[in-house]
Amino acid sequence: MVLPAYSSLRELQEAVVGCDRCPRLRQYCAGVAEERKPAYRNQKYWGRPVPGHGDPDARLLVVGLAPGAHGANRTGRLFTGDESSQWLATALFLHRFANQPNSDHAGDGLRLRNAYISNAVRCAPPENKPQAAEVAACRPYLEAEIELLTRLQVVLTLGRLAFETTAGVLGGAGLVFRHGAVYLLPGRPTLVASYHPSQQNTRTGLLTPSMWMEIFALVRRELDPGQTSAVRLAPGTDSGIMET
Ligand code: SF4
Repeated sequence: MVLPAYSSLRELQEAVVGCDRCPRLRQYCAGVAEERKPAYRNQKYWGRPVPGHGDPDARLLVVGLAPGAHGANRTGRLFTGDESSQWLATALFLHRFANQPNSDHAGDGLRLRNAYISNAVRCAPPENKPQAAEVAACRPYLEAEIELLTRLQVVLTLGRLAFETTAGVLGGAGLVFRHGAVYLLPGRPTLVASYHPSQQNTRTGLLTPSMWMEIFALVRRELDPGQTSAVRLAPGTDSGIMET
């Protein structure tokens, strides 16, 4: 599917918010926004497609899977308002890509520096499982974003679907997803693969805080060779207590 060219990230963001190409996802997001989780019953959900956000001069692009039904689909900002958001915000802050270690709601003051956040799919899917046709329908937005982020040097993908979609966009179709893998693509940003910081991964120990911090240290080294990370885990713990 070919989308019209966008002259700016703002124009692209507006197009995403008004998108209705995937009826199943639009219906699901609106339904979740109507029903709401008991804990958020007094809140108004966003319930629409969620565009990327961050620094237009970003050298790092982080690509996740899709908005969380009660995270970004509620707050209207990607990686905002759920446990995955907290993992990402903490890492971005500790590695100097963000001004604060939390991402709670759209008006919380979070500002990204040199980083932009996006997703392979911009509407929350049932059970976090978009269909192939939905991934394909949403991919042109990622293509447009990568073209508009003219200073990009590294794309960090979270989870297999984000990796495979982004690899396809960058001309690396068929590359193998492996946590910690780094792919140098001629004339394109470096592609880095990580497990997604979903509860399913973090609560089972598939992705630990130290593994997560190592990914961001790796990204920082790719961007600024010679600079070492100032982040370390508190002695004797791998349970999320991190200090600089
Ligand atoms: S998933 Fe993407 S293509 Fe589908 S309706 Fe949402 S924004 Fe549009």
